[in-house]
Amino acid sequence: MTICLRCHRPLKNPSIGGLGPVCAKAVQPVPEVELDLFGYDIEAATLAARARLAEFIDFRTWHAQHAIAEGFRDARKRFVWVRP
Ligand SMILES: [Zn+2]
Repeated sequence: MTICLRCHRPLKNPSIGGLGPVCAKAVQPVPEVELDLFGYDIEAATLAARARLAEFIDFRTWHAQHAIAEGFRDARKRFVWVRP
């Protein structure tokens, strides 16, 4: 199962952009920066890169937290009280 990169809800069908239909409509697409040697907008490229990086970090953080929570859930299921 895949999840939406923005709201982390499970998606029935994987999407190309990684977002569910609701979030895909809500998110403004990060403008692609023209890779022109002389007219290169470094500031815009930096902002776009930061936006993509922040989204990636948010997703990975959420994913790691859920993996840890899942590990704890599994460990609790396996835990058996043993009298000393
Ligand atoms: Zn979403």
